[in-house]
Amino acid sequence: ASLARTMNIPALIGIDFSEDVDGKMGIVDGYEGKLIVDPPVSVLETYQKKKAEDEEKKRLLQELKGKENITLDGTKINLYANIGSVADVASVLANDAGGIGLFRSEFLYLESSDYPTEEEQFQAYRKVAESMAGKKVIIRTLDIGADKQVDYFDLDKEDNPAMGYRAIRICLTRKEIFKTQLRALYRASYYGTIAIMFPMITSVWEVQEIKRICRNIRAELAEEGVPMADKVELGIMIETPAVMVSEDLAKEVDFFSVGTNDLTQYTLAIDRQNPKLDAFYNSHHPAILKMLQMIVDNGHKGGCWVGICGELGADTTLTETFLKMGFDELSVSPSMILKVRQKIRETRL
Ligand code: PEP
Ligand code: MG
Repeated sequence: ASLARTMNIPALIGIDFSEDVDGKMGIVDGYEGKLIVDPPVSVLETYQKKKAEDEEKKRLLQELKGKENITLDGTKINLYANIGSVADVASVLANDAGGIGLFRSEFLYLESSDYPTEEEQFQAYRKVAESMAGKKVIIRTLDIGADKQVDYFDLDKEDNPAMGYRAIRICLTRKEIFKTQLRALYRASYYGTIAIMFPMITSVWEVQEIKRICRNIRAELAEEGVPMADKVELGIMIETPAVMVSEDLAKEVDFFSVGTNDLTQYTLAIDRQNPKLDAFYNSHHPAILKMLQMIVDNGHKGGCWVGICGELGADTTLTETFLKMGFDELSVSPSMILKVRQKIRETRL
């Protein structure tokens, strides 16, 4: 779903086909979550009109390119884009994002039939950094396991994969995989403004161990005479109720980015992939909103800047709330950048 959104493709998930739809015309209504099979002419005409209106709205949004993300009373926020591949950079630039707030690097691993080499990764990260010409590019280290499986990792079947061996837990136990990625990232840092972000962090010791490994990688590359950026920001995703230790985590890193997709799943104990639980899934749940405020406050107390990179960041019914909470950045799919900018520019706090 995240990828379809990045590519601006209307998509429906969890549709139950009760009739044979093969070869029939259908309307995909991504706004309402509906598939209308064999629509009568009147419905077809209504949707053609809706589509034309939508295109006109998109055309008007183009006028917001080059404008600031600033409220009517002068509060500014950074608006970055989420990407899943090097090719997505084109739409980041076309939609005038201020940077990349989440590069889901696991797609390099998912698209490959074997572990991507340091050189392959370096080329990909360098290309993104260079294309963004000095704008910030936050690359998230490998986040596989659970809903993102890769055969050659040969991961054991687990009864409870979402709570299992995934993301940073793989990186901290299979260090050769982690080190290859970190070497590629530090090498690429010389060609732009790269920041590194670590997923699924729940404990302070994990961050301390990550920082120790990063220091070693830097020293190793320096000894080899490899050029690197002087400063590479290190940040973590806050995407579990370990929000409760965010005050301690903030002392260790430069930034937080909230993964609201997982944070909602873990806080409400709702499998984000189970359509049967839709009625119980509430991304505006007060528990989530309270946690968001706590993350901003604790992050700022510890000197971090704080953003959101989960899908909720693009929910324009909450833009005003996020601004009031004090978020410094929102990272959304490229196709949502201008819509969120419009919302920010119409807001008075
Ligand atoms: C999240 O959990 O909100 C997030 C951005 O990460 P992903 O969707 O890739 O798990
Ligand atoms: Mg996540």
